[in-house]
Amino acid sequence: MSAVLILAGTAEAREVATLLADCGDVSASLAGVTARPAAFPVPVRTGGFGGADGLGEWLVRHGTKAVIDATHPFAAQMPWNAEIACRRANIPRLRLLRPEWPAQPGWIPVASFAEAASVLPAGARVLLTTGHGGLDAFAARRDVSFTLRSIEDVGPLLAHITPLRARPPFRDADETALLARIGATHLVSRNAGGTGRAKLDSAAAAGVSVVMISRPAVPPGPVAENAVEAVAWLAGTVAKRS
Ligand code: NAP
Repeated sequence: MSAVLILAGTAEAREVATLLADCGDVSASLAGVTARPAAFPVPVRTGGFGGADGLGEWLVRHGTKAVIDATHPFAAQMPWNAEIACRRANIPRLRLLRPEWPAQPGWIPVASFAEAASVLPAGARVLLTTGHGGLDAFAARRDVSFTLRSIEDVGPLLAHITPLRARPPFRDADETALLARIGATHLVSRNAGGTGRAKLDSAAAAGVSVVMISRPAVPPGPVAENAVEAVAWLAGTVAKRS
């Protein structure tokens, strides 16, 4: 196996890298947005490529044979850049996308941050677990109090948005205590899927309404749900081309 690029930024990207660590010329790419990313078992390059064109040039220059796009389910741009670059250069590409959380009774499904902000009733007390995304939409709702939980510092905020720096994983008991402490009436979450669903279970148990933002569109092409499936796709792809 040679010249595989993993577009990283998720736990699944790290899992693929771990599975491929002994397979030769495999590298990973990070956007460089996290201050102290955890160590990777394969070489890592950091920073944007300069759009689909820049990525395409990089892939050709490095003789890339396959791309595994393991960026976050809410990474809106990179999957499309990868689709365009790989299609033009005729390089096989896989989207690695963990399953969504299945909808629960009572969830309020919305398609965007703006829609999430618009469905909150006046006077709501909201736990926002959407990072810094969509902050403008929530900032405009001065009739609602927000607690914004994020891993990284989000900078200065308006008075009705209280920052809460915290790093997952979050346990059920902690989520229950947090929702009670802030008197939450609503939880706003993106449907990231994966292991971080304690907040959803705690909200359901506490009668807190869940506003769930759906994922952005996925580019056409093969999709794997986990690292093992991605490695199987890679093996099949490389076998077909050799
Ligand atoms: P995005 O909108 O898809 O990407 C924005 C730009 O960041 C891309 O156009 C690209 O710049 C650069 N980029 C993104 N992923 C990259 C990668 N793996 N390697 C090199 N450059 C990359 O993504 P985003 O929402 O800003 O997220 C940035 C990164 O953080 C992604 O890798 C994502 O997996 C990770 N992340 C995102 C979230 C989230 O909620 N969005 C959560 C956890 C982790 P160029 O056009 O210059 O190449």
